[in-house]
Amino acid sequence: MIAQPLILHVAIATPLRRLFDYLPNDATILNTLKPGLRVSVSFGRRKDVTGVVVSISNQSDCPKNKLKKINHVIDDHLLFSQKHLNLLKWASNYYHYPIGEVVFSALPLTLRKNNSITKYEEKNWRLTEKGIAFEATLIKRAPKQSQLLNYLQQRKSPANEAEIDTIYSRSKPSLLSLEEKGLITRSTENDPDSVIKINPSPFKLNKDQKSATNEILNSIDNASIFLLDGLTGSGKTEVYMTAMESVITAGKQCLILLPEIGLTPQQIQRFKDRFEVNIAIQHSGLSDTERTQHWLAAKSGKAKIIIGTRSAVWTELANPGLYIIDEEHDLSYKQQDGFRYSARDMLITRASRDKVPVILGSATPSLETLYNVKKERYKHLILSTRAANAKPPKYRLLDIRGKKMHGPISQSLVDEIAKHLNNKNQVLLFLNRRGYAVHLFCHSCGWKAECTRCELPYTYHKNINRLVCHHCGVTKRHIEQCPDCNEPLLLMGHGTERIEEVLTTLFPQATISRIDRDTTRKKNAMHDYLEKIQSGEIDIMIGTQMLAKGHHFPNVTLTGIVDADRGLFSTDFRASERLAQLFMQVSGRTGRGTKEGTVIVQTYNPEHPLFEQLIKHGYNYFCKSLLQDRKHSLLPPYSYMVFLRAEAHNANDAKRFINDATMQLNQLTNNKLLLFGPIPALIEKRSGRYRYQLIIQSQNRKSMHAQLDNWLEKLEKSKLSKKVRWSLDVDPQDMA
Ligand code: ADP
Ligand code: ZN
Ligand code: ZN
Repeated sequence: MIAQPLILHVAIATPLRRLFDYLPNDATILNTLKPGLRVSVSFGRRKDVTGVVVSISNQSDCPKNKLKKINHVIDDHLLFSQKHLNLLKWASNYYHYPIGEVVFSALPLTLRKNNSITKYEEKNWRLTEKGIAFEATLIKRAPKQSQLLNYLQQRKSPANEAEIDTIYSRSKPSLLSLEEKGLITRSTENDPDSVIKINPSPFKLNKDQKSATNEILNSIDNASIFLLDGLTGSGKTEVYMTAMESVITAGKQCLILLPEIGLTPQQIQRFKDRFEVNIAIQHSGLSDTERTQHWLAAKSGKAKIIIGTRSAVWTELANPGLYIIDEEHDLSYKQQDGFRYSARDMLITRASRDKVPVILGSATPSLETLYNVKKERYKHLILSTRAANAKPPKYRLLDIRGKKMHGPISQSLVDEIAKHLNNKNQVLLFLNRRGYAVHLFCHSCGWKAECTRCELPYTYHKNINRLVCHHCGVTKRHIEQCPDCNEPLLLMGHGTERIEEVLTTLFPQATISRIDRDTTRKKNAMHDYLEKIQSGEIDIMIGTQMLAKGHHFPNVTLTGIVDADRGLFSTDFRASERLAQLFMQVSGRTGRGTKEGTVIVQTYNPEHPLFEQLIKHGYNYFCKSLLQDRKHSLLPPYSYMVFLRAEAHNANDAKRFINDATMQLNQLTNNKLLLFGPIPALIEKRSGRYRYQLIIQSQNRKSMHAQLDNWLEKLEKSKLSKKVRWSLDVDPQDMA
């Protein structure tokens, strides 16, 4: 039989939406070629570009004599299984994002270039369970494999690759074949693979935890989706760990996604204390080498637990048994630029393709998730009590209209802070705005200090005595006099620095810490703050969003929400949902120990229905009415959305691009889709570019998506597309 020439369809990290065809080079051993290998190819003018073989066939759209040969195969084993490549292809289709970029974003940085993976790999080999029992003579067609298996069986302990090679020269391909057959596996000296030690939980699960765990364990073999709905501190993590226990005991792996701020050393330590197994971590704090090693450990099956932030959703697992995503509503799971995927949605897709159960945990589930519960696609598990018997906090709406203020803090809040400090408790004040003041302006002529690139006010940072644009990062010398009329300038609007200043004057004895992005830039800063809070060293902490989530502060009895009104009147249809989530998260910091907590909410709009519904009836009730609103206006989750985002130095270019695109899409779809645009983005100008959007909406996801590829092809060819920076955002999460 004469084989047809093989054609390799290769993914390359480029914005072009396609695979590239190559022929094998002469040195390639054809039957070792498989999808999932990296190859070096020449691409355009570059001679040595890394690619990943995505599929192999005998067909090419190019004439065969035009096809180039690859330079060489980089790895001697597969970086992705066919199954994982299929997942990446699915994602590329769904997000309409170039396949090359998708495949490469699933690789650790080190492997996106063509350095070999051997230096990150384990150099020892040992038998698997299957390999121990396997009759070596049964491998008839490959005598070398049979010999090697026999050798390892005689030897009984792992053998070093170099050592094997001195006995059986050029043994690597045979070893890899044995690995592929599942007979041998890579191993380290003290192979943690074989030691699985699980320590018992220090607690007896409460009633809710027990029934949630039972529900999960009863359907651990079906690909069920669970919403584990419980207040912060209700013991969700204990439920995860109990479920993980049975998955790991069965020899399978668990993948856990945490929000960016949630992946703290303490959280990782909790898993390490409970599970003495190989744990792979995937987040930006690791060195590239470590990340690569952990990535390989997940892929080989050696790591039993994989913990990571958003991008960890792309890590391949050899033997997945359970997927978990904590704080599923968190915005950090949606990538906001480039490949704009949602890690939550991808994890759920992955779970159904892999037939693995998935747990979504949250105190404030997203409306999408609550909707899926309502449709009975997800099972709703509720933890209704706080685990350690702590009581839910008491709320007090504080109407600050016309009240005596110290900067942003009302006299009543000051009195309350004093009371809690006297009782030797801690206080947390929340304001989601860094810096000292938000506006610098002239009272006599109206001049404002604005970033010219964004046309938005500068924030004054007193600590560095500079003006900072929070949208593009530009900083500028602070000025005290109006450049137009020389009058002294006024500072308006408060940030966390201002609260710190006010409280330092009012409570000179107290230890006060401001915890925001400015004070936590150094590597261990956040960690040090958290320790000081735990040990009681800090009396008052002033924080932004980063302090609002996930942390456990048993001695905080008072939480003050300094400016609850932000977000009440936004035009983003998700604003109320986000505000409610933040509100609940912030309040969740209070009274998590044995002491009762109070939440004080400062507002100029005490009669706003959002507060009444949230405080009187709770988050779930509030969401029911939000869902009703969305249903009436046919907004997600009652419809599907895609944004076309465009930005350009010239506002007209961006608008025209959107207008042309709208016309083309209407033509393609016979006006079947709902299109709105050009709509200015919430931040209409950023870094010197004007930003507009086209909102594409439909109740039929499939037929909407089916039209987009043709449309994109047209857009890419248009002249304006070169002048405008544009991108597609599928299932967008914000209008900024
Ligand atoms: P969540 O993940 O919902 O925020 P955690 O699992 O972190 O909640 O639990 C909050 C606190 O309560 C932790 O300190 C945890 O150790 C403790 N805890 C959890 N379950 C129990 C239990 N059944 N009995 C006593 N304490 C518990
Ligand atoms: Zn002036
Ligand atoms: Zn700016």
